[in-house]
Amino acid sequence: MNSWIAKAVVLAATVAMMAIRAPHGHRSRSVKVAKSHKTPLETGLLVLAWVGFFVPLIWVASPAFSFAEYPLRTPSFVAGVMCLVIGLWLFYRSHADLGTNWSITLEVREGHRLITQGVYRGVRHPMYSALVLYSVGQALVIPNWVAGLSNLILFAVLLALRVGAEERMMAQQFGNEYAAYTARTKRLVPGVW
Ligand code: SAH
Repeated sequence: MNSWIAKAVVLAATVAMMAIRAPHGHRSRSVKVAKSHKTPLETGLLVLAWVGFFVPLIWVASPAFSFAEYPLRTPSFVAGVMCLVIGLWLFYRSHADLGTNWSITLEVREGHRLITQGVYRGVRHPMYSALVLYSVGQALVIPNWVAGLSNLILFAVLLALRVGAEERMMAQQFGNEYAAYTARTKRLVPGVW
């Protein structure tokens, strides 16, 4: 398979992701932050997320990572496109369900409500599940060891270092309501973890 198809898919998925996020980024600026839990570690994690976001685009636009290229195979490409599509759908649904409670970092907003419905019914972090699916999709679609794996590795680091802190913040804010929610849900994969 020719890698220009992979480049077109990566570009289209990136545009779709930005289009899903943009209105929420815009709206969140008008909802006041009641309590920020943003630490220097959180700032570092956000930088990592941006690096993971841009490396595949550098691969699309330049030969910078040509030393790490390998042949693109149809089965992995098809599986990757499926992961990207499902990941983008879940990314869209989790933004829609979270509404004005969404923040790019660890923050409690004014009038913050605990969302437990929609895609939040089965797992506590559907947006992170969406981003894992998206990163796995990129790893399967991009026939390049550096550009394909960058997002997956950097996002795994972000998840490992953020989920615990986010859950402590939510427990502090919502007390028993969050404890009950935690007791009946998993983190990323329904019924598994
Ligand atoms: N971890 C969630 C949300 C990511 S956005 C997910 O993967 O779907 C991060 C922000 O969302 C956090 O700072 C917190 O303020 C908010 N948040 C996380 N879970 C929430 C929930 N169940 N209800 C309301 N707000 C939530």
